[in-house]
Amino acid sequence: MTAGTTRSDEPRLPVVARSREQLREARAALDDGDVAVVMTMGALHEGHATLIRTARRTHAHVVVTIFLNPLQFGPKEDLSRYPRTFDADLRICTEAGVDVVFAPTPDVIYPDGDPGVRIAAGPLGDVLEGQARPGHFDGMLTVVAKLMHLTRCTSAYYGQKDAQQLLLIRRMCRDLDFPVRVIAAPTVREPDGLAMSSRNTYLTPSDREVARCLSAALRAGAAAATEGPSAIRRAARAVVVREPLALIDYLVLVHPETLEDVPEWYRGEALLAVAGRVGATRLIDNLPVLVGPGGGALEVFSPDASAVSGPLTIKV
Ligand code: AMP
Repeated sequence: MTAGTTRSDEPRLPVVARSREQLREARAALDDGDVAVVMTMGALHEGHATLIRTARRTHAHVVVTIFLNPLQFGPKEDLSRYPRTFDADLRICTEAGVDVVFAPTPDVIYPDGDPGVRIAAGPLGDVLEGQARPGHFDGMLTVVAKLMHLTRCTSAYYGQKDAQQLLLIRRMCRDLDFPVRVIAAPTVREPDGLAMSSRNTYLTPSDREVARCLSAALRAGAAAATEGPSAIRRAARAVVVREPLALIDYLVLVHPETLEDVPEWYRGEALLAVAGRVGATRLIDNLPVLVGPGGGALEVFSPDASAVSGPLTIKV
């Protein structure tokens, strides 16, 4: 069956574009100026599906990109073993009502090889994930810029799960005047709190048990939010130190715009972020928190993925 020929009670198959020409054609058919894009690396899960459904509810058209971007993987990272599940991804996109799936290979995106000109993430790209993964954010922003141009999207949806990525994309659009509305959606979690991630498939059953301490630490930190920054950090650390098999890279409470540690007198929104290695897998997670009187988690830490609150709109 081809796009548009399904029976009316079945969801329409998205148009699958592999080349720039196919994307151009598929994009031209979306005559409306209201096109949202959800950029992914494939191996789609409920976190991606929620992001797509959120976009679908608000926009006339949704384009999903599936692209494993070599530019954002370091030489020792997991590019070659990253899960590839295209057929299942297409089913999720079909059920979520996606119009176009753009799934190019690297030679389509980088026809002249590695680009000499790239987007520089700047100082915000050097800390936290950037410290652990040098060059990662330059590579990520470069492909995001290209995909924004190629899809000619008016809005783009990203998960709070990758908070530093989201911040940098927001900054890129603002600093470089991209005419794209950047919209964030809350992190979708497994029933035990673990943030959904394509990389969770690497975890062995015992790794999976250990991995729970990351989200548990965030939850414990948020529960101490009324007492101030050091109480939040102490509560979160108390959880991860009980799990020596989680090799914590960082566990920080930072300002959501500058990513700098917030001082003890700080009151307001902050980001409690954690990264660590469990077995052979590097995992990240974060929780926006309100520090001070009436404080606590700013994202519903619900085990039920469908119960997460609506998208947080970020002004660009
Ligand atoms: P990825 O395929 O991992 O590059 O993710 C594609 C998009 O989905 C990014 O905007 C991610 O932040 C978002 N995403 C990944 N996991 C989750 C999750 N558990 N909840 C919400 N969004 C997510």
